[in-house]
Amino acid sequence: MERGGSQVALDKLTGEHSMLFIRSEQLFDLARTNSLWYISFGIACCAIEGLMSASGPRFDFDRSGVFFRNSPRQADVMIVAGTVNMKMADTVRRLYEQMPEPKWVVAMGACACTGGPFREYPNVVMGVDKIIPVDVYIPGCPPRPESVQYAFMELRKKIKAKTEERLAARRSRV
Ligand code: SF4
Repeated sequence: MERGGSQVALDKLTGEHSMLFIRSEQLFDLARTNSLWYISFGIACCAIEGLMSASGPRFDFDRSGVFFRNSPRQADVMIVAGTVNMKMADTVRRLYEQMPEPKWVVAMGACACTGGPFREYPNVVMGVDKIIPVDVYIPGCPPRPESVQYAFMELRKKIKAKTEERLAARRSRV
């Protein structure tokens, strides 16, 4: 069925490729980039060494909009802090799947990146990227909380770049 003139005009004003839609998407992306909530979830020593101190008064991640949430359904970021073994792999994957889109993953420490000092053990996963996609890797054993701060700065850059890419593709279709 052919669409009427008023419907086409409304589409141009509020449709998927309209300036209003693009601007509101930009606004949501800006809000999202500056309020990255991570799931409160740690597997081994990295969680204590880096992650817990990151939320403490000295490093105070809250001031940059980075908070932890206790439910994966309210989290944007998963920081995999610790050794992932075969027994934990399903839990890590399930938590990741419970997070809403868009979502990002940070592999924190040598263990989460590559298996670290435990890689010779047969029950250790050789990096969490074998089970879920990873956006930023933090090397070290254990990494300092500053490294986690830096990882969030890199993650923001990555999200902004993706946003620009998506908006440019939309603009070219207008
Ligand atoms: S990288 Fe080091 S500090 Fe982190 S979980 Fe592995 S052994 Fe522990």
